[in-house]
Amino acid sequence: MTITGKTKVAAVVGHPVAHSLSPVLHNAWLEAAGIDGAYVALDAGEGGFRRLVEGMRGTSFLGFNVTLPFKEDALAAADEVHPRAARAQAANLLVFRKGKVLADNTDGLGLLAAFAAQAPGFDPAAGPVVVLGAGGAARGAVAAFQDAGCPHVRVVNRTFARAQALTTDVGGEAYGMADAEPAFRGAIAVINATSGGLSGDIATDFPLESTPDGCVVMDMVYKPLITTFLAQAKRLGRPTVDGLAMLIGQAVPSFEALFGQPPPKDVDVRALALKALAG
Ligand code: NAP
Repeated sequence: MTITGKTKVAAVVGHPVAHSLSPVLHNAWLEAAGIDGAYVALDAGEGGFRRLVEGMRGTSFLGFNVTLPFKEDALAAADEVHPRAARAQAANLLVFRKGKVLADNTDGLGLLAAFAAQAPGFDPAAGPVVVLGAGGAARGAVAAFQDAGCPHVRVVNRTFARAQALTTDVGGEAYGMADAEPAFRGAIAVINATSGGLSGDIATDFPLESTPDGCVVMDMVYKPLITTFLAQAKRLGRPTVDGLAMLIGQAVPSFEALFGQPPPKDVDVRALALKALAG
């Protein structure tokens, strides 16, 4: 890739952000599409997100994907908010256009794309779906499944008050951990949107064995690709969807919004991401 005076630049912004695979995906697409562009990772530091957005406003910078912990700050920094981001009350994409900052949330699209890719035939409207967690990612998931026609979205969270706040804002039914078992019964899918997958304890905290055969189990965490939660689901014979599929699924519409064209289809970004994960 040659950087020129006309190179269009976009970024993923978080704190920390060095672990992000988004630059791997976007730069592979840029190169394959022959776009004079670059996609970097920017650590905004603690409390630095708002200053960064205001500093970039009106410049030639194309925009940001936004990751932890700035998704709610991203929404607040925007002049215009896509209904998807307003529903989720979080934004993972800020596009700078003509001095304005436009917020969107492509996480929900990524989640549904991941199901379409790895659980073909899954119908979100066919029954109750369980979302574990009540943070920004869970909010996007609840909104996406409701918009896809899911009749009941059950939100199970360690802190019950946060589950209640989510369901008041976005919709769905709130459950505490003590009620996880009834929530899991009859579910057609369970999505882990907690950040507990990395610690390894989450699988034993949730009664996956109470899900019916065929229930699709998904973990948003993609490092490791097969979390303890997904490993337990596999042991129970449940079909699984991984977080990398979601990451790629949200990156596709993000790329199009930032660089003005869809990413080329003939790049195996999953293979590149898996290589980066292994490295
Ligand atoms: P967040 O706002 O910090 O929320 C974290 C949630 O996890 C809270 O509901 C918290 O419960 C719960 N939690 C944390 N540790 C737990 C544990 N040990 N047991 C049970 N619950 C626990 O985070 P977020 O932005 O929603 O992100 C959640 C996860 O999704 C992160 O791992 C993130 O990397 C991942 N993610 C992946 C993608 C992708 O493309 N694959 C996209 C977005 C997010 P309390 O409310 O009780 O504290």
